Amino acid sequence: MRVSESDRDVEPATLLAVRDITEGYAAQQGLLLGRRAMEASASGILIVDALDPKHPLIYVNPAFERITGYRRGEALGRNCKFLQGSDRDQPELQTLREALARGHDVNVALRNYRKDGTLFWNELSISPVRNGAGVVTHFVGIQNDITERRVHEAEVLRRSSHDELTDLPNRALLLDRLREALALARRHGRMLAALLIDLDQFREINDSLGHDKGDEVLFEAAVRLRACLRDGDTLARLGGDEFMVLLPDLARPEDAAPVAERILQAIARPHTVAGRAIHCSCSIGVAFAEHSLDEPEQLVQRADLAMHAAKRAGRNTVRVYSGELAPRGSDRLEMRAQLQGAIARGEFELHYQPQLDLQGHRISGVEALVRWRHPELGQLAPERFIPVAEETGQIVPLGGMVMEQACVQHRRWVDRGLLDCPVAVNVSALQFRREDFVDTVAAVLARTGLPARRLELELTESVMMDAGARTLETLHRLRSLGVSLSIDDFGTGFSSLGYLKRLPIDKVKIDRSFVKDITHDGGDAAITLSVIAMAHHLRLRVIAEGVETAAQMAYLKRHLCDEVQGFHISQPLPPAELENFLADFRAPAAGEADLDGAERTTLLLVDDEPNILRALTRTLRRDGYRILSAGGAAEAFEVLAQHEVQVILSDQRMPQMCGTDFLSQVKALYPQTVRIVLSGYTDLESVTEAINRGAIYRFLTKPWEDGPLRAHIKEAVLHQRRQRS
Ligand code: C2E
Ligand code: CA
Ligand code: CA
Repeated sequence: MRVSESDRDVEPATLLAVRDITEGYAAQQGLLLGRRAMEASASGILIVDALDPKHPLIYVNPAFERITGYRRGEALGRNCKFLQGSDRDQPELQTLREALARGHDVNVALRNYRKDGTLFWNELSISPVRNGAGVVTHFVGIQNDITERRVHEAEVLRRSSHDELTDLPNRALLLDRLREALALARRHGRMLAALLIDLDQFREINDSLGHDKGDEVLFEAAVRLRACLRDGDTLARLGGDEFMVLLPDLARPEDAAPVAERILQAIARPHTVAGRAIHCSCSIGVAFAEHSLDEPEQLVQRADLAMHAAKRAGRNTVRVYSGELAPRGSDRLEMRAQLQGAIARGEFELHYQPQLDLQGHRISGVEALVRWRHPELGQLAPERFIPVAEETGQIVPLGGMVMEQACVQHRRWVDRGLLDCPVAVNVSALQFRREDFVDTVAAVLARTGLPARRLELELTESVMMDAGARTLETLHRLRSLGVSLSIDDFGTGFSSLGYLKRLPIDKVKIDRSFVKDITHDGGDAAITLSVIAMAHHLRLRVIAEGVETAAQMAYLKRHLCDEVQGFHISQPLPPAELENFLADFRAPAAGEADLDGAERTTLLLVDDEPNILRALTRTLRRDGYRILSAGGAAEAFEVLAQHEVQVILSDQRMPQMCGTDFLSQVKALYPQTVRIVLSGYTDLESVTEAINRGAIYRFLTKPWEDGPLRAHIKEAVLHQRRQRS
């Protein structure tokens, strides 16, 4: 017989004595001794009659009475179960039953209830007692009340997983939750966003008001954050003034935007500490889980990088991790030191990138982009050093120098009649926030003699987003100087289009990340088109950045974007080369002029087999259509960006992308087209699904017969016309 370890009072000898009870007569002395020991034991001891099918208690000691509150007389004759009350759904009960049925020792912890109904944790060791014939005649149980230990353990567990001040999950628990959430999101095809929130002025508050007051602010911040979230979201404190929010169930990344917006506003409301109103904003970094990303740590790291980018952008703002935020560490430290001297030594120069007006096909602006001619590293792109300069504040003198140099250069071009448009200069948040920014601009204009309307300032979304009274005033003052204002990198922050209407601005620059996939990604195209529509509604001009192909340019032109900038027009060029560019300037092609197709119905045939394309063209040409063809999805998107197409006939099985997927994308980009699959094989599932989603209009099979095929196409053309009118 084994004795529970926690019990020091009952020696094995005692229990041997218990066995002797059943064996009758033998050792009177031992029996007495055993009795005495049991009565004195601090652990509860109970004996059950195993031969009676009801298993009644036949002995309980005083400790049992003390622990359970039941008198001996109330307990004897009853089955031990009565201590569980109605709380029968305990996994350990099963363990207990199985062990007893097999006649084994068992050790379990059960929730039991005292006579007054209060819960206690009962650690129970039960051993069967056998007679000479090996039959189990009794069970002997030793019980200990381990409630306090349990509570303590739970507390320890909680402390190891929760933050003491705010009682929020800590980093360790967050990582656990994140791991689960990642698996779930993957399974259900939902988006997961991690938001890292860092209070902007916490250090100052802590230093000036003391830790107690700092703690109050943190506690209050936690309460406000919680109020911004829904039930399934997780809020954790990573330490210090850093919090993390997990949004585990988003349909689209944009759905994180309103939450981040609410958080910014909630934290920015003044905190009352020691009767004083304290202002504290926060910077938020957002990272979305990708399929390739398995480690929760990585997601946290990315959110962290994005959060630092938000700090660099001037705080009180949001940044989304885009894969480009990571500066290399050592690189960075060196750069900081070198930047100092570089400004003095004049190692910076400007390149200019032309902007093209899509209506008039003339140059409508040039953007000044800074380059560092580094003595050892050669020419450095701004991505390498601007973030460092922003962090160290060196951006202020650097930006001032850029503005001056751009104005001097541009004045010469304007005077020579080479350009009659503005020069655009990038302004970073730190520059903009300086008290004397407007005066600096006015002074540069006065010194260089450039007319104010020839200067345009590019400000990022984050600068504008914190559209407090001061920001608005600065913008108005700049406008009344006569300079124009544009929002740079539009779409990468979280600003809603709605807030644009409060701002005195002239132009919106759609970020190049949207332009990149515009001809084949329905989502990016939809964002771009809605930005164009909304901006026009507010009478703002729209320029798209990063235009690299004729197809992108044609697509933007067809959708009424005003201007474009990008490698398709020109790289940023040193001044002398820009002059050459202007001298030879002829607007680059925006795809073939679509005059020919304007009147005729246009069909697009897509198939990876040239023979099929040829045969289809021969057949369908007889009906007088203009016929375009493409060997795959990518090529087809290019064609679609450049031509008005009414009907698309696509093969199903193609190497890059199957026909139904291709046509689903086309539906998003060009909903007016009529889309038909012509397939030699039937993957019924994907076809029905595509039909149900409205992605395809007809499903036709190969090999085809000319007559019916032509009839189908005619019908599709009619359908398209009806749909349009
Ligand atoms: P940005 O203001 O968005 O500038 C446009 C960037 O896109 C430039 O990179 C330009 O070279 C690049 N670009 C132009 N056309 C294309 C294209 O067709 N495809 C692609 N993939 N990229 C294109 P750059 O010159 O490296 O500048 C990077 C960023 O550095 C700028 O982004 C701007 O945020 C910052 N920057 C540059 N000069 C200054 C400056 O003088 N002051 C401040 N504060 N920031 C600057
Ligand atoms: Ca810019
Ligand atoms: Ca930009």
